[in-house]
Amino acid sequence: MKLSPALHRIGNDIVAVYLVETPEGVTIIDAGFAGHWRELLSELTSMGRSIADVKGVILTHGDSDHIGFAERIRRDHGVAVYVHAGDASRARGGHKPANGKQQMRLGSLLGFFAYGLRKGGMRTTYLTEVVEVHEGETLNLPGGPQIIGLPGHSEGSIAIYVPTVDAVFVGDGLTTRHVLTGKEGPQPAPFTDEPDQAIASLRALIPTGAKWVLPGHGAPWSGGVEAAVAAVEKAAQTAR
Ligand SMILES: [Zn+2]
Repeated sequence: MKLSPALHRIGNDIVAVYLVETPEGVTIIDAGFAGHWRELLSELTSMGRSIADVKGVILTHGDSDHIGFAERIRRDHGVAVYVHAGDASRARGGHKPANGKQQMRLGSLLGFFAYGLRKGGMRTTYLTEVVEVHEGETLNLPGGPQIIGLPGHSEGSIAIYVPTVDAVFVGDGLTTRHVLTGKEGPQPAPFTDEPDQAIASLRALIPTGAKWVLPGHGAPWSGGVEAAVAAVEKAAQTAR
């Protein structure tokens, strides 16, 4: 689906993958589940593009619901996959710290796993090769994506600010739909390694002034980054 002329999303509010288009080609943010591959191909076709136009895939972090087709596009089509150094081993199938207690509603959780099952999420293909990125870098990819450190959900979580589409892609730095409870609106994301750090990290997004805040899970937010961060901070306060 098209969020704006050069900004597309595949997947849904359960798991989302984003495409940024410029005359130079396409940058993909996150790689969903393996089964999002077909949706990727048809979205590119609808844009009058093909896999050959994809110049890079940037992962917001290394969790399995974000790396789905990354190894496939890298291995079969030579597309570089970028991930923060702090999450590179996670993207390669390395250890992930255990999470604390989660408040969950069974229906929403089942919805997530049912969707994951349909999209091949239970057979994760880890990366064998990645390009490591760091805070403050601007990548030489369509849209000129800028890397913002967002540690908390995982050590190497990042946000990606793309000025050409006025959007910041936040991965699981926040969510607009809690995958476990189904609650909507900007709020802290579940399965977070360091919840307090994750909230504090969001301040770094504000200077972008981006209109779009695009999470890995939940509806696209077009109400501006400042309002989104304020809403997450408020939700975190009331949860205390
Ligand atoms: Zn996720």
